[in-house]
Amino acid sequence: MLVAALASTLVIGHSSEGREIRATRVGEVGAPVKVLVVGDVHGNEPAGEAIVAALRKKSVDGVQFWLIRTANPDGRKARSRHNARGVDLNRNFPYRWAKGAKGTYYPGPSAGSEPETKALMRFVRRIRPQLGIYYHQHMGITVRARSVDTEVQRDYARRTGLPLRWLPNYHGTAIGWQNNLIKDGTAFVVELKAGQAPVKTHVDAVIAAARSYGR
Ligand SMILES: [Zn+2]
Repeated sequence: MLVAALASTLVIGHSSEGREIRATRVGEVGAPVKVLVVGDVHGNEPAGEAIVAALRKKSVDGVQFWLIRTANPDGRKARSRHNARGVDLNRNFPYRWAKGAKGTYYPGPSAGSEPETKALMRFVRRIRPQLGIYYHQHMGITVRARSVDTEVQRDYARRTGLPLRWLPNYHGTAIGWQNNLIKDGTAFVVELKAGQAPVKTHVDAVIAAARSYGR
């Protein structure tokens, strides 16, 4: 296979402490289906990174995967939910953003204020992925997304055994923003269980979801 020759990595931005945020494309440049997979947004929820790493070795006809190991490299370094400025990036996106107190869910001083948020927004606007999967922990569910076709989510839940469930309609989330931007796409969160994820099961589920967009 020519996977290595078909992969390339972009620096899509930098964290507030200057660390690179990288996206790796796997698959043909012109492939019609674009799938974004984000290993983690909260730096203390890293299990999705192993799934992203395994996807780097995959090749699916008609699909370009865009893989971001971590959207929060400073938080990963510090093993913190937040970025280095104490912001919960998954409350900082400028869709239904709301002010909030400092602490666990601090949404930042203003909508889209953080460099990590801006990097992801710029990148999503540029590639416009039809499918986006963002990993979190540790609830062990596939989180039902609002205003999207849930068929792909139902299939993901069935394949992984992580049941499809609603969570409250949080403010300022990455998937809320992405689903509002890309009306004919689907972005959703998978809350992995604590500890390590069953990587192959999730890789197969991501590939099945990608293929369903190629039909
Ligand atoms: Zn999380």
